[in-house]
Amino acid sequence: MSLANKLITPQLANLEAYQSARRIGGIGQAYLNANELPFPAYQMPEAETWNRYPDFLPTQLASEYASYAGVEPGNVITVRGADEGIDLLIRAFCEPRVNSVRLQSPTYSMYEFVANAHQIAVETIPLDAEFSLDVTANLSQCSSTNLIFLCHPNNPSGNILSIDGILQIAKAHADDAFVVVDEAYIEFCPERSLVQHLSQQPNLVILRTLSKAFGLAAVRLGFIIADESVIDVISTLIAPYPIPDPSARIGLQALTDTGIDFMQSQVQSIISLRQGLKSNLTELSVVEQVYASETNFLLVKFRDSAKVFSELKAQGIILRDQHHVAGLQNHLRISIGSAAELTMLFNALETMK
Ligand SMILES: *Cc1c(COP(=O)(O)O)cnc(C)c1O
Repeated sequence: MSLANKLITPQLANLEAYQSARRIGGIGQAYLNANELPFPAYQMPEAETWNRYPDFLPTQLASEYASYAGVEPGNVITVRGADEGIDLLIRAFCEPRVNSVRLQSPTYSMYEFVANAHQIAVETIPLDAEFSLDVTANLSQCSSTNLIFLCHPNNPSGNILSIDGILQIAKAHADDAFVVVDEAYIEFCPERSLVQHLSQQPNLVILRTLSKAFGLAAVRLGFIIADESVIDVISTLIAPYPIPDPSARIGLQALTDTGIDFMQSQVQSIISLRQGLKSNLTELSVVEQVYASETNFLLVKFRDSAKVFSELKAQGIILRDQHHVAGLQNHLRISIGSAAELTMLFNALETMK
């Protein structure tokens, strides 16, 4: 036995690695499995030197993001993608083997993965057949639950949750839990953001990212928007020099007025591509149901998803398989790619019986 295997913590030894789209892999010509933007980002920086450490925290980036999001700079901390935000929140507010997190299923699987990695119990409340939030079940007190995760819009279903419902849950837990609203896709429905409610409801914690609508998945920039007391705790825990300077500078470019306009026009393109794909898919015999989406992806129920998935994969068209997820048998998730990629997808599906 290697020393690493001898000394590994038991919870890690039992942990299966998070199955990210890149880790699962597949060689293709149309990668529609990771909800990335199919367009290049706004602007890349000029040649620079990189010999100095970056700021302890990229304060200018946080304050530009704060102004974009409509909050005060003290309400924002920059993290290495929303995924690091999830990890920091769980480590900051949940004690291993003592506390638990609550989540809604099906949802983004990182919440459960990170909880498992830190020996935090997970309580799961199912979404209903339309993937709506069970508000009543979420009102129940649970003395060990310190974080309630709500993905809004929800990945992989694509729908938004009830804003009144989220606020009711936050009120009910004002003194015992943070309600973490993951707004990774909020640029596709910006009027649904919970940000404006933060000052009234300081136990709301909002996760954001530049990976999706801003088209900067490779740059690894996310943000936690929360009450200053939460930001203070997270900034105590976060690694030294967490944000590489090249990333911070690219983020600053993306958050200029021109960068934001550019993002918004790409969002409009994605939304019209999504609408076109949705109506085209609905007519296909292999498709059973296409769900409403407020994001850059569609959840689709097929008659035989395994067959569709593997036949598309053989043609180099890679989708995200949801068949193994409880309640999502025969479902695949399709990221909205470029018009050419979606035509390739549609043509391939049209020939299937
Ligand atoms: C993609 C995604 C993330 C991760 O975003 P990064 O900023 O790239 O880490 C977080 N939450 C949801 C719901 C996502 O779909």
